[in-house]
Amino acid sequence: MDCPDCGAATVTFAVPDGLDEFDEPAAALCTRCLALHSVQESDPNPDFTAVSDAFPTGAAAVPMALAVGLLDSLVLHRETVEMLLERVEQAGTDPLLVIDRLANDPTLDPKTDLATRRRQVAQLRD
Ligand SMILES: [Zn+2]
Repeated sequence: MDCPDCGAATVTFAVPDGLDEFDEPAAALCTRCLALHSVQESDPNPDFTAVSDAFPTGAAAVPMALAVGLLDSLVLHRETVEMLLERVEQAGTDPLLVIDRLANDPTLDPKTDLATRRRQVAQLRD
C-alpha cells in the first residue's frame, strides 16, 4: 500500500506477538516519512532496504522498523521502544547508529525529528 500521510511506497511486515501497541497482525513502514501504519496483510519477505541502505536486515529489521515508527510518540511508548531497541541490539545491530544514519539519509523525509529522538533515546538508555 501507499503511505496515507505522504503517498510514498511502504514496506509491510508481520508484527511479532506480544506487542499491545499494534491492533493488526501487520504493519507498514513508509519508505519516505517513516510513518508506521497498521495493515491486514504483510509481505512474507519484506525488503527494508527500500526504506534506506542504512536499515538493518535479518533479525534486527522488524524490531528496528517498529521502534522507528514509535519514535513519533516516544513518551507514550517508551517501554516498548526500549524493549524493541534491546531486540535490535541482541541481533547485533547498534540501534542508535541506525537512527543516526536514517536522520542523515537524503532519500528520507522523516515526519519525526530523528536527531532529537535519538538524543532522547540515548538518555533513556543511560
Ligand atoms: Zn509516508
